[in-house]
Amino acid sequence: MGGIGSGRGARFDSKMTVDRICRIDIRSWCRKGLLVPGTSFAGGWYQRAVGVSVIRVWVEYDRVMVSFGAHAKSGDCVVQLCTTPCNFGSGRLWFACPGCGRRAAVLYLAWGSFACRQCFDLAYPSQRESPGFRAATRASKIRRKLGSSGALQTPFPEKPKGMHWRTYERLRQQEAELTAQFSGELEVRTDSLKKRLDRLL
Ligand SMILES: [Zn+2]
Repeated sequence: MGGIGSGRGARFDSKMTVDRICRIDIRSWCRKGLLVPGTSFAGGWYQRAVGVSVIRVWVEYDRVMVSFGAHAKSGDCVVQLCTTPCNFGSGRLWFACPGCGRRAAVLYLAWGSFACRQCFDLAYPSQRESPGFRAATRASKIRRKLGSSGALQTPFPEKPKGMHWRTYERLRQQEAELTAQFSGELEVRTDSLKKRLDRLL
């Protein structure tokens, strides 16, 4: 795992990607006609890393109860359903994310609960870095230009011999702005992650 300034994003778990965890998709349940109130159905996944994961879903009018055994854990989770109107009569069905209440077509199972991608801050394998982390990468580049390792935790590097003071001051100023942008975003992200976890636990 790279440190701050190494150009890699600080995620909750950098190895966890959408590909690797169990998910439920309301669109596929609708397509298969599974959401009939008063009935239940079962589903499962096989993943090499975790083996077989199974779920059973009990369908009610405005919610589903999902019981699962996955990741060496089992439990159950109630997920409310909501609809948005669509052109052809019956509305489109969504999950209301148990973590944040937002509409979601797909929920992911992690840490013993289902929640949307935003709640788990899952990294799509190809996800681009956020503006804050791009700023950190640029700040790190400025530091390397001045002969340091590029790590943002260490004091700002001294002026290299032969560099004009004016150039040095300009780079220092730029670096300070980029680092401030990065810390600002880090604070917001940490704060929102804490809030989400509080709601889930
Ligand atoms: Zn959510």
